Amino acid sequence: MDEARALWNEASDDELKELAQEVRARWHEPDRATYMVMRIINYTNVCVAQCDYCAFYVLPNQDGGYVLSREEVFAKIDELVEFGGDLVAFNGGFNPRLPLDYYCDLFASVRERYGDRVEFYALTIAEFVFLADRAGLSYSEAAARLRDAGVHWVTGGGSEILTEDFRKRHAKWKYTVRDYFEAQRAIVESGMKTTATMVIGFDETLDERLEHLQRTRDFQDETGGLFSFLCWTYKPYGTAFGGREIAPREYWRHIALSRIFLDNIPHIRTSVLTQNEDAFRALDYGADDFDLPIEDEVTQKAGARIDLDLDGLLAIPRSLGYTVEYRRAERPAAVAAPS
Ligand code: SF4
Repeated sequence: MDEARALWNEASDDELKELAQEVRARWHEPDRATYMVMRIINYTNVCVAQCDYCAFYVLPNQDGGYVLSREEVFAKIDELVEFGGDLVAFNGGFNPRLPLDYYCDLFASVRERYGDRVEFYALTIAEFVFLADRAGLSYSEAAARLRDAGVHWVTGGGSEILTEDFRKRHAKWKYTVRDYFEAQRAIVESGMKTTATMVIGFDETLDERLEHLQRTRDFQDETGGLFSFLCWTYKPYGTAFGGREIAPREYWRHIALSRIFLDNIPHIRTSVLTQNEDAFRALDYGADDFDLPIEDEVTQKAGARIDLDLDGLLAIPRSLGYTVEYRRAERPAAVAAPS
């Protein structure tokens, strides 16, 4: 961590870029990037966690709460397919009225209807912790239930900053860091796939960012289960915590630091959802992969802008000198081990 702290404080942008590109080149062709077209389906906005950085949720019994019907979910997936996408990420609130069976039935019905034509990220680790606890099951038991319902992926979303202090300041009812990693370990051990995420731009200190990266790196050393690391930026509009957005340059530098620090994770992903056109510059700072999302109510409520001109977006990395290739969701691109 000392080395990373020194790099952050002292390295120029060009030095960070160069080091990050060196690590990127161990995993990927230097001038090639991959992408997916995807949709986040926010199946319910009812949530009891009350994170102060969230503009999305309503409490149970408050006006405006919803749970999407199965038909509404299917209609959203059909629309994604029309856009040429093949990845759905389910993400919603901690709704105490939805039992584990609701999720298992929903995921089994999606798998039955779409087979492997559409892949889905079923929940985030944060939601998984809540579900397992509500069901009174161990993480291994809950993971087995999801896997048997046809789930292949439970992503590392909802992690924001993984330090106990950050959790207490902003999201004390969400989960503890210890629970988070225990749950993620159970997902890996059950044979499902997972990812790492991070959100920066709240009030976290440099040391907290580095602790998050260190914990992620350690988890990968222990389990080898992380396919990718995605970092996005906090959107403050309409949230109780408020604040301001960080500048793109800070994001790019953080992507570079992450690529260097997490040299044991194959993919570093840049966030078009929260950085729009500026996200593509992060390819020069070590990122190799990105999503083009067509919907995410959680971040849109907090100020994210979604651009549906996918060809226009793809022209940007091309203009930066990258070949962009679609990465089919059901078959993660083969990644060579680093040399
Ligand atoms: S971030 Fe997620 S868990 Fe936290 S309040 Fe919003 S919906 Fe609930």
